[in-house]
Amino acid sequence: MSHIAHIALGSNLPVSSGPHSGNRLSHLQFGVDQIATMSALTIEQVSSVYETEAHIWPGAPPQAPYLNAVLRCNTDLEAPALLRALLSIEQQRGRTRQPENSWLARTLDLDIIDYGGLKIEDEVLTLPHPRLAERRFVLVPTAEITPDLFLPAPFEANVVYLLETCLDSSDVHLTPHKLRIPEGT
Ligand code: ATP
Ligand code: CA
Ligand code: CA
Repeated sequence: MSHIAHIALGSNLPVSSGPHSGNRLSHLQFGVDQIATMSALTIEQVSSVYETEAHIWPGAPPQAPYLNAVLRCNTDLEAPALLRALLSIEQQRGRTRQPENSWLARTLDLDIIDYGGLKIEDEVLTLPHPRLAERRFVLVPTAEITPDLFLPAPFEANVVYLLETCLDSSDVHLTPHKLRIPEGT
């Protein structure tokens, strides 16, 4: 059965040399390209690219700003299989994780924001994404491509309403960058 999923993409770590070299935009485009090659998945729309100051833990050292975008896809994959595929794409882009230290700078971060209104909460996957309503860098691009998206509990609201009532005051700045959906995938 097919489902509509929304996936957030983020990058704040350009890499100047080596197998994962590229700027933030190229990391995001790599993510879009790899998602497009997944079987049982079709990308319907990709948002504009936005630039945002990094959210960091209080007292943590400053981090470079992010480029962020959100895409909407139609997929036959079950949500856990979709997450595994996304984590593998992050790894292909040289993403490293330290379990005790979340929110590190990263080449590519791929989060499932919503999966057809499904609610899951286990060790590896929480849907809808639990922090989506406190992040303008997620709400702005999502509202751009799917303004009528309804998020289930604990939100139980439309994405535009969540944006209007969001307490995050960070500047989510529209950039002229464009992400391409590859043809014929
Ligand atoms: P945040 O979730 O606050 O955006 P993060 O993206 O920096 O933080 P990561 O280190 O990328 O966190 O991911 C840690 C784990 O979160 C992943 O290994 C994955 O199992 C889990 N996870 C739970 N729910 C989701 C989701 N909806 N989308 C992506 N990952 C999720
Ligand atoms: Ca994230
Ligand atoms: Ca993540």
